[in-house]
Amino acid sequence: MAETRQFKTEVQQLLQLMIHSLYSNRDIFLRELVANAADALDKARFESLTDPASARDWKIVITPDKENKTLTIRDNGIGMTEEDVVENLGTIAKSGTRAFLKMLEEKGENGSDIPELIGQFGVGFYSAFMVASSVEVITKRGDAPAVSWSSIGEGSYDIAPADKSDTGTEIILKLKDDAEIYLENWKISEIVHRYSDFIAYPVVMPEKKINEEDKSETVEERTLNSQKAIWLRKPSEITDDEYKSFYAHLANFSGTEYLKAIHMTAEGASEFKALLFLPKQASFNLLMPDIQKKGLQLYIKRMFITDECKELIPDYLRFVCGVVDSSDLPLNVSREILQDNPLLGKIQTAVTGKILSEMKKLLENDRESYEKFFAEFGRILKEGLHTDRANAEKIKDLVLYESMNTPEGKRITLREYVDAMPESQKDIFYISGDKREAVAASPALEYFRKKGWDVLFMTDPIDEWVMQSMYQYAQKYFKSVNKGDFEDKESEDKVKADAEKYAPVAEFIKKVLEDKVSEVRFSSRLTDSPCCLITDGQALAPHMERLFRAMNQEVPVSKRILELNADHPLIAAFSARLAENADDGKLKRYAGVLYDQALLLEGSPLSDPAAFAREVVELLSAAVK
Ligand code: ADP
Repeated sequence: MAETRQFKTEVQQLLQLMIHSLYSNRDIFLRELVANAADALDKARFESLTDPASARDWKIVITPDKENKTLTIRDNGIGMTEEDVVENLGTIAKSGTRAFLKMLEEKGENGSDIPELIGQFGVGFYSAFMVASSVEVITKRGDAPAVSWSSIGEGSYDIAPADKSDTGTEIILKLKDDAEIYLENWKISEIVHRYSDFIAYPVVMPEKKINEEDKSETVEERTLNSQKAIWLRKPSEITDDEYKSFYAHLANFSGTEYLKAIHMTAEGASEFKALLFLPKQASFNLLMPDIQKKGLQLYIKRMFITDECKELIPDYLRFVCGVVDSSDLPLNVSREILQDNPLLGKIQTAVTGKILSEMKKLLENDRESYEKFFAEFGRILKEGLHTDRANAEKIKDLVLYESMNTPEGKRITLREYVDAMPESQKDIFYISGDKREAVAASPALEYFRKKGWDVLFMTDPIDEWVMQSMYQYAQKYFKSVNKGDFEDKESEDKVKADAEKYAPVAEFIKKVLEDKVSEVRFSSRLTDSPCCLITDGQALAPHMERLFRAMNQEVPVSKRILELNADHPLIAAFSARLAENADDGKLKRYAGVLYDQALLLEGSPLSDPAAFAREVVELLSAAVK
């Protein structure tokens, strides 16, 4: 006996909106209905575990009927009793309905992404009214009688007994005139492929095939989705090709390769499975944070939720792509609410730990691949040294640097550096600059070469920033070789004696270079060069100063310290000339040239290169005469 019932007020409001206000992104109605069907299949499959006789050929069938302008979505899942239908599809407003309406109110005119959110509020079924002028649901659960629910979405719905013999649900949409595109096979395939590809059941569409010979017609079912929830499968059962095509799907770009696939199964505090990929090459948008939006894909129980969930993985691992599939996050929440869910933090912690430990394994077992990987992504990873204090120690074991003792292009770990330190060396030394050639030529390295102490080369712009929080590794302090705080106790006495002996030289040069250097002093840092420039403890390294200026940022000009090498013959000769004639004009010019060549050596530009060249040539001509 048919019966007409009223929708709850909130459901009515919701339907009004679906019918009259939401026009953008209507494709998602199909995603929602397929998702509901897949849920119903999940439940039925679960029941069949204890009742094997009920197991059947699980599937979802989408049938467009151009003549009648209907689109039918059919599943052989759990089905609904009359009670279920009334409860689920009409009278009882679920909490999600109110939350959804509230969000609509708040978003107002700017709600173009509203349809996207429907499913997350547990009101996905009603999205059918975006495209349908009337909806009929025919469903049967187990031994209960089949029932039909139908509505045009205005105020009421009808419930009546139905004729259906097998368990499952059929949803028949009478499409609106402006929604006939959803009768097209290509459109249906496209939507299924985009939104429901990894649903674990086949989503099929009947297609007519005409036999060329006898012109007879047959109907065959075409499967529209790949069903590859490959992250839920055992790694041993996944072929290389499957990994590759899944990676291409994630990276949105075929022809790109991954370095390592990482499977994860987490149990306990938060249960989830993940399949993550370390890529081989950086994608185009990786270094452009403004453009890059996509993160790991978040699935909840195999349903795609979002790929814009920043909480899943820290920023410094943004080169990792993959899927996280949680079984205990609630499906019916909005993204905003999802972001506050503490489970996400737990997932992030677990995912981060796993990725870092897999990188460590790679470093230990396949050094060559790791070095290539690091060359590509190391500068992003290094951000974590500064931003992820909890994991900084682990990251320290993953970073590589070139050093004074490594051939160009070859990098070492901090552990390798420390293990190679001779007894006499107490600290970890580094030099920062634009590029290897520049730092390798620095006179500041002479002392270390003589001592046999290696020096790490920090040539990424980010290194200087990172070093602010890298105080120690293995209880050894990091010290910059071009910062003024460098001291060596053993040679203190010698430096003192030199300073006394050549005091007039230092004074003279200081006077000449008054507006360029803050101090002229002697040091034991040099062996082969007559002088070098040092940065004061707190000041920015010169290449960083340049970098900031290049980014149009104001940086105070910091005066440098000029350090002299008393053992260089030039200083003795200079001293002798000065003793002869304290007003020697040439000596002033020599001091200028000394300063400029020190700038050149450290890779800093000269303010007036032409003047320098002229000066050198003139002084040479005078010397050659
Ligand atoms: P949600 O699926 O997020 O709970 P919906 O509004 O999409 O919200 O669906 C409401 C309810 O109707 C579902 O929770 C489910 O119990 C029932 N339902 C919808 N579609 C089906 C289906 N194909 N088979 C069985 N039950 C269904």
